[in-house]
Amino acid sequence: MERVPAAIADALQRTIEGGGRICVLTGAGMSAESGIPTFRGTHDSLWSRFDPMQLARAEAWCADPALVWGWYRWRMQLVRDAQPNAGHQALADLARRVPLALVTQNVDDLHERAGSTVDAHVHGSLFALRCFACGRTHHGPLDDYVDGQQKVAPLRCTACGDAIRPGVVWFGESLPDEAWNTAVDAATRCALMLVVGTSGLVYPAAGLPALARRHGATVVEINPEPTALSAEADHVWRSTAAQALPQLLAV
Ligand code: NAD
Ligand code: ZN
Repeated sequence: MERVPAAIADALQRTIEGGGRICVLTGAGMSAESGIPTFRGTHDSLWSRFDPMQLARAEAWCADPALVWGWYRWRMQLVRDAQPNAGHQALADLARRVPLALVTQNVDDLHERAGSTVDAHVHGSLFALRCFACGRTHHGPLDDYVDGQQKVAPLRCTACGDAIRPGVVWFGESLPDEAWNTAVDAATRCALMLVVGTSGLVYPAAGLPALARRHGATVVEINPEPTALSAEADHVWRSTAAQALPQLLAV
């Protein structure tokens, strides 16, 4: 089994002994070992012919709502069929032992299903549906099965009749205030920030590690590949979420 690099074990131990807080920032790589593709991954479906960056936009929704809703229904289905991995589980266990704030860019619910309280879903959640026009929240129904090969006509708002959209933050949209403020607060106050499975290309979330560092935190990146954030991390661990995070519990 892989061991925690000594410098990272030291940083964790110092944080715990000093009563410091940990902030964990997760991205799509966190859920990769649960079988949920990252945006830069490849997959076999209708959607492999589309660029997620082009689908995750209000313009795409307005041009072809059934195309975009079909893509999101497929993603919801993938998440429903997936299970939290050992990394999700380890973060839930770690939070029972040390003060830990969990900030995720993920729109899935795998942290919650592993038993974590997510402090901030900075990019929203797949399952938090709301009306595109009036903003009213909706709860489905979403129980029909979609096979990931089809366009699906969006549900209609019972208040105004407009189409119901997924509760995620699309490119070009601002982040939900409350989640963002919580994330900034957690980054500012932590002694140790773990950055797990994010490419660090999507701002403002990608600015959180630098913010933590400016406020004195040690920043650790856990990612099998180099990223845009690697250079500003104090320590990098080239491993995966499900392999690395359970090892932290042994420190
Ligand atoms: P990204 O797709 O840009 O980058 C994924 C990162 O994860 C890469 O750096 C990759 O090297 C790393 N990675 C791959 N496998 C890993 C593993 N097993 N363990 C650890 N790291 C691994 O994802 P991003 O940085 O989160 O940004 C893209 C946006 O995509 C986010 O805003 C997010 O909302 C959205 N997204 C979410 C999900 C999800 O909720 N599960 C899935 C895809 C995309
Ligand atoms: Zn409405």
